[in-house]
Amino acid sequence: MFNPTDTNPPDQLINARLPRWLLASDWPTKNGQPELADIHIANGLIVNIQPSIKPSTNANTPSWDVAGALVLPALVDAHTHLDKTFTLRRMGAVEPGLLGAIAAMMQDRSNWTPLDVEQRATQALQWAYEAGVNHLRTHCDWWEAEATPIAWDVLGELADAWRDKLVLERVSLMPLHLFADSSTAAALAAKIAASGPCARLGGFVHTTNWNAQALRHLLEAAAHHGLNVDLHMDEELNPSACGLATTAALVKDMAFAGHVVCGHNCALSAQDESKALATLDAVAQANITLVTLPMTNLLLQDAVTGKTPKLRGITLVKEAKARGINVLMASDNVQDPFCHVGSYDPLEAFAAGVLAGQLEAPFDVWSESLCRADWLRGGPAAPPLQPGSAADLLIFKNSSAWSFPSRTHERVVLRKGQVISRKESTL
Ligand SMILES: [Zn+2]
Repeated sequence: MFNPTDTNPPDQLINARLPRWLLASDWPTKNGQPELADIHIANGLIVNIQPSIKPSTNANTPSWDVAGALVLPALVDAHTHLDKTFTLRRMGAVEPGLLGAIAAMMQDRSNWTPLDVEQRATQALQWAYEAGVNHLRTHCDWWEAEATPIAWDVLGELADAWRDKLVLERVSLMPLHLFADSSTAAALAAKIAASGPCARLGGFVHTTNWNAQALRHLLEAAAHHGLNVDLHMDEELNPSACGLATTAALVKDMAFAGHVVCGHNCALSAQDESKALATLDAVAQANITLVTLPMTNLLLQDAVTGKTPKLRGITLVKEAKARGINVLMASDNVQDPFCHVGSYDPLEAFAAGVLAGQLEAPFDVWSESLCRADWLRGGPAAPPLQPGSAADLLIFKNSSAWSFPSRTHERVVLRKGQVISRKESTL
């Protein structure tokens, strides 16, 4: 039986309720629900996953009977800002909205010493690791063409220091105007390419800095250096924002060989439906991955002092998924001027997304948006928990497929079959 205090690694996890998206199409069901699963583990790796109805357990094999508890693969936090995190506590009043947050952040930059960034980012990584994250992508503000920001190198060192615990990817978050000149764009891409295999080229695309030529230069420079791209895209409710549509057209026009991720895409929700859906059709064709960031969108979009917001800002996630577009959900900012809440538990952002997007079947369908690291790199699908992959698992004893993600704070996190974190009520 599953003993909450047992820290010995099991070789079998039996009677686990896995999400439907992870199971084969011919997985047996009972009363409309997937049958429970037995997960066989050896040397920290998945051996196979079988329906529990086929007696496959060996009484002599160390087992945990999780008695129908929900089980997920390790979590992916596809979009964070470790350079900015935990800065809110030292700031004064911050104007509401995205541009007010940017102004506050620029004032705080003078405090960003290597030690300051390292301490704040380390706290974030520790929280993420304990929450069950094994892959985290962070953006890093990069304001000038000539100077590499302090945080870029600090985050690179942290990626090395944490490589046994999680994959830490860095994306350069550069204003689009830095790419207006093609030679500057090329030089920036060369710097990112020289930063190692976990570095991505990024940019901030918004109607306030719109420059289609600069966006083309960014993609051309990335292609030249074999870089994947991750863009802050149309993070606004201005229906004239056309960054996503232009990116999809450029990817097709250039036959861009790398992979593109676009975060936010809030403007889609404010556009005429036929225009927004045409953009999504193009995004699907271009194999662009979308990342939705519900917490910051809910806080920053339609934000006016003294007024209750009426618009949600979340992008068209259902329409995107219906077109086969890979949609990830992530934390974004945590405890900084952009978002005062957050905990590096992707399920916190997920809970906001389920409500804001009125998402059906959160566990069986949408939990996939928290678990697909392969969607960050394009290429062939590589779902988690295949035979031979690490037994990186989360067990939620107190939640259910109907109430998920409620009561998921309590969880046991296994990494390569070993317990690395255990959050449980002592009552
Ligand atoms: Zn962001």
